[in-house]
Amino acid sequence: MNLRCQELLRSQCFVDGTWTDGSGADRIAVYNPATGALVGTVPAFSQKETQKAIDAASRAWPAWKRLSVDERSRILRCWYELIVEHHLDLAVLMTLEQGKPLAEAQGEVLHGASYVEWFAEEAKRIYGDTMPMAQKGKRIVVLKEPVGVCAAITPWNFPSQMVTRKAAPALAAGCPVVLKPAARTPFSALALAFLAQKAGFPPGVFNVITGPAQEIGQEMTANPLIRKLSFTGSTAVGKRLMRDCAGTVKKVSLELGGHAPFVVFDDADVDAAVRGAMSSKYRNSGQTCVCANRFIVQEGIYAEFAEKLVAAVQKLQVGSGFDQCVQQGPLIDQAALDKVEAQVADAVTLGAEIACGGMRVGKAGYFYAPTVLLGATKDMRIAREETFGPVAPIFSFKEDRDAVSLANSTPYGLAAYFYSQNINRIWRVAEALEYGMVGINTGRMSSEAAPFGGIKESGIGREGSKYGLEEYLELKYLCLGGLDAPL
Ligand code: ADP
Repeated sequence: MNLRCQELLRSQCFVDGTWTDGSGADRIAVYNPATGALVGTVPAFSQKETQKAIDAASRAWPAWKRLSVDERSRILRCWYELIVEHHLDLAVLMTLEQGKPLAEAQGEVLHGASYVEWFAEEAKRIYGDTMPMAQKGKRIVVLKEPVGVCAAITPWNFPSQMVTRKAAPALAAGCPVVLKPAARTPFSALALAFLAQKAGFPPGVFNVITGPAQEIGQEMTANPLIRKLSFTGSTAVGKRLMRDCAGTVKKVSLELGGHAPFVVFDDADVDAAVRGAMSSKYRNSGQTCVCANRFIVQEGIYAEFAEKLVAAVQKLQVGSGFDQCVQQGPLIDQAALDKVEAQVADAVTLGAEIACGGMRVGKAGYFYAPTVLLGATKDMRIAREETFGPVAPIFSFKEDRDAVSLANSTPYGLAAYFYSQNINRIWRVAEALEYGMVGINTGRMSSEAAPFGGIKESGIGREGSKYGLEEYLELKYLCLGGLDAPL
């Protein structure tokens, strides 16, 4: 593997400041989704080894929370600078294990680093409060304190950014972290752990472990030393983890599935809408939880929008993420490919027309052609199930209320997008959409400065911004009495 810094490729877990294979018996293999070739292996930690990592984090907590905010901030800042310094290598690792085009991987690493920078700064602004009280001689003081040892479970679609989005606010707040990355993309997370070690986090403050998801998840949810679980992944697994956390009443942050509507009104700037659609739908080959899943387009501009979208989609190059001309890498695995194929077949059976794409590309790797489906309807699987692939089904509507009602007709509530130039319509529609995030005349809205997260079955809690820090803090109310005597 061609890395400038070979040490970034780690095949061990990072626990209590040291690199370890654990018992060393079993290992998990990681494959390149573009070729099927083996990238490497990582340890398969057991429940006992997970417990040891949690113990180490728990031992590290008192000293970590007692550091001054300046000291914590400086270590985070150093981590940020190291990630930026090594971002090209980190991107190579990501493209190898995840498949996304190298330029996109570089963008992700740098965007992920921006969360570390942001929370290095926010660490200094964990303000409490004082409040007046009706009773004489008493005062209310509110402190914000770190919640405690945090467990984090991250998915494979953003192997770097999902790590920093959880770890940086937790560490800034004064919480140690035990993180389990997705089994398909552990190397990005382990490389970040290596840079965290170099940045100077004390032993036990940041731990990264790999292994069987269910076994590690069970320990993380049952262990009373874990005070908070932050998870990004499927709604089904999120619900299960939430149930399992109930036993010890942990705080949870859940960033789960989505089914984003992308509404284009007759008064929209169609070219801008097509640019937004390309960015929202085809980034990461459609494998993001905020990817547009349903294009809902008003009758008057349906044909123009569809024609321009198809023209743009046909220009996308599919292939290895290491090829500079490529904008569409492979899907993550065979199951992902099967799901996309099944949704397209179902849509065609129910009357959709394939305007472009609609088939697998090549035999090696998990490539699927960027696809546009015309004449999509509510009864199709793609109208209900998250696609996580490069398929854009286009629905049509007449009245605003029909668009909003179709947009809201899902148990998910993560991201929604719409394009319009009419300020009254913009306000009314933005307020009527039941989503945690609404992109208006833009197809991209992820930012370290904004609260990312969903409502309904898309999750609980927010990542990024000042709100992202609150997720790792508890309020403590001090009631000072006996202050009524005059001086
Ligand atoms: P996806 O479909 O995107 O892979 P998952 O929810 O299956 O979503 O995976 C997201 C993360 O959750 C991964 O790190 C995965 O290993 C982990 N995971 C999957 N099942 C469980 C489980 N039962 N307990 C804990 N973590 C799990």
